[in-house]
Amino acid sequence: SFSLLNSFTTIFSVYAQILNAIVGMSRVFAVMDETPVVADLPEAPAMASVTGDVEFDHVDFSYIKGRRVLSDNTFHAAPGQIFGLCGPTGAGKSTIINILTRYYDIESGGIRVDGTDIRSVQQDTLRVQIAQVLQEPFLFSDTIMANLKYAREGATNEECIRAAKQANAHEFILRQPKGYDTVLVDGGTNLSQGQRQMLTIARAIVADPRMLILDEATSNVDTRTEKLIQEGLLTLQKDKTSFIIAHRLSTIRHADQILVIDKGRIVERGTHAELMEKKGFYYDLYMSQFRGRLAGIVKE
Ligand code: ADP
Repeated sequence: SFSLLNSFTTIFSVYAQILNAIVGMSRVFAVMDETPVVADLPEAPAMASVTGDVEFDHVDFSYIKGRRVLSDNTFHAAPGQIFGLCGPTGAGKSTIINILTRYYDIESGGIRVDGTDIRSVQQDTLRVQIAQVLQEPFLFSDTIMANLKYAREGATNEECIRAAKQANAHEFILRQPKGYDTVLVDGGTNLSQGQRQMLTIARAIVADPRMLILDEATSNVDTRTEKLIQEGLLTLQKDKTSFIIAHRLSTIRHADQILVIDKGRIVERGTHAELMEKKGFYYDLYMSQFRGRLAGIVKE
């Protein structure tokens, strides 16, 4: 019966990969609305270009004094490694991202990128080195090309078109009334959800920073589009230190390291195979997702 589950894994991993949809902006704005601005130290220098070596060193964090949300989080991601974050809702996965991007400062411990404590540099110069591909794609009401160019100052038309090709967006862009000069209405309501996602992947490819955050999104797109998006996301992850927040565990099966978070603590870590063998917290999460999905299939 386990091999039956495995063949369902394959079917669902296609669906699951797509989930990583795009763009930080809307969420960033949401975070900023409710967030006291983290202050830079006076005369903090710009952060130099990093390779993407990320270290959490005994990090504790609370949003509200006395209510600990993360406790003693320690891990090290080498440049180019893919880290999967999973665990129940409210465990602290998004919070790990919020403090890595320094929307909040930590209580104790240290977060270092390429050995530099992120509190010691200008926060904007950290953030531009992290691409965020989050649940709600955000696009400007401007041309498709302008949306791509926005990703990086000095990006050329050629670079943007190359990125669009890598994100599998080129074809549908050419089918728009004015190709790359087509103006996006209302942040892209004249595109399908899948097309908006591919554009935001293209934009992250243009930006090409050394660190990447993916937060999966549930999407209503056809199977072919899912596959195109999945390919784009794999291209995007290449050579970047990536943190993937997974709601469906199949999204992070390929991760170099999976951190299982529960109540703000890293309760297990390892590769998918190691964690499955362990038959602990991750294994239970994984098996319960399968049962849920199998039940879903039967209903459909
Ligand atoms: P996850 O991403 O794993 O679902 P979160 O990191 O969003 O979990 O949340 C971890 C805990 O922090 C939860 O108890 C949540 O209620 C709390 N939390 C999240 N954001 C805030 C905030 N802005 N202010 C206060 N508490 C928060």
